[in-house]
Amino acid sequence: MKNLVILGGGESGVGTAILGKQKGYNVFVSDKGIIAQKYKDVLLNNEIEFEDGSHTEAKIFKADVVMKSPGIPDKVQLIVTLKEKGIPIISEIEFASKYTNGVVVGITGSNGKTTTTMLVNHILKKANLNVGMGGNIGKSFAQQVAEDNFGFHVLELSSFQLDGIVDFAPHIAILTNITPDHLDRYNYLFENYINSKFRITENQKENDFLIYDADDEVIVNWLNNNKLKATLLPFSLEKELEQGVYIKDNNIILKYKTEQTIMSITTLALKGKHNTKNAMAAAMASSLLKVRSNTIRESLEDFEGAEHRLEEVLKINGVQYINDSKATNVNATFYALESMKTPTVWIVGGVDKGNDYLDLMPLVREKVKAIICLGIENQKIIQTFNNVVDLIVETAGAEEAVKVAYKIAEKGDTVLLSPACASFDLFDNYEDRGNKFKQAVREL
Ligand code: ADP
Repeated sequence: MKNLVILGGGESGVGTAILGKQKGYNVFVSDKGIIAQKYKDVLLNNEIEFEDGSHTEAKIFKADVVMKSPGIPDKVQLIVTLKEKGIPIISEIEFASKYTNGVVVGITGSNGKTTTTMLVNHILKKANLNVGMGGNIGKSFAQQVAEDNFGFHVLELSSFQLDGIVDFAPHIAILTNITPDHLDRYNYLFENYINSKFRITENQKENDFLIYDADDEVIVNWLNNNKLKATLLPFSLEKELEQGVYIKDNNIILKYKTEQTIMSITTLALKGKHNTKNAMAAAMASSLLKVRSNTIRESLEDFEGAEHRLEEVLKINGVQYINDSKATNVNATFYALESMKTPTVWIVGGVDKGNDYLDLMPLVREKVKAIICLGIENQKIIQTFNNVVDLIVETAGAEEAVKVAYKIAEKGDTVLLSPACASFDLFDNYEDRGNKFKQAVREL
């Protein structure tokens, strides 16, 4: 029996443990932190050996193969030693993909992964296909594979998950965009992070597809310098394409072998240019899987948006409150501000990951009437926008921020929480921040 050691007892670790056990491995799960009770229960029920609070190296070094959770950085000493010993270290995605014949749609990018994943899943479901959705959201891929014989897997993939692949090749890959993020894990080199994102296509063959943003310079430059096997299907808001997805007279056109007009962008359920791009990518992927254009259109019209992403909360006294707590970087907030149609009271701030707010300047000048800072350290925001926005207020909690916004906003305005920052100075995570915001709005 081969020894499978799993480092990290979270969603992907426990999913891999179950699949590994099912496939006849001798499984051991080791987590230096504390494994959540719900996962411990699953491991106990499946009679899988585990430890938490420390790593027993003697046991770990007996592994034939190690699955490392995406949260563990490569520079950790244990990983370095495993590598020195020549023990293969793979990701959950790599492991699970060996055990399914289902068609895989893999979605990566700096922003828009979750939304695009949910869109593809929604379309395939409406087309009555047997589809499992997971990866970085919801269930792990390994858990899906262990549970059911899905015909299709729609996977949200972070760069960390892609770092641990060897042979993994999605039939359809979507690369939404690339902007600097998580550079602390990539030796502060943007280049490393870009290469990591492109690993999604490294094992693809001629009959596989890469759908990507042709308006994204980083992506286009990389493609100009690298030769790929996969068929390239770009999407663009700006230009007509010989092959791919583009907009003509406000309609989404798919062009691959044939040309199809899918729908008008005016009836898309999700608003904002960024979401139009996500919809275009999802439409192309679904069409490659033979979903009819009517089904694609209906799905993109009735899709209910993902929580915490430009989520409309309530309208109070003619003021619309929007929760975009998932906007944890400047690029996401850029698109949120861009999609604002009315004067905006903007709630921003938190833990700054090295933000450059200058990109937002034209939008702030045009749309923002007041800024409410929601973070412990707000100096950078105040300094950047001091001369552009008349009113900047500092607050120290969601409730206070919402109350101040309520006082400032007038009929016809929008109050937008789109922080451009991580949340952990004042909140547990972005969900907690979004939920507290929504709660405060409902209590107004
Ligand atoms: P991810 O899973 O990659 O973090 P989400 O779909 O959860 O992406 O969206 C994260 C944030 O980015 C939200 O604020 C959302 O409004 C914004 N966003 C969504 N799609 C895009 C896109 N294509 N480009 C830029 N920002 C986007």
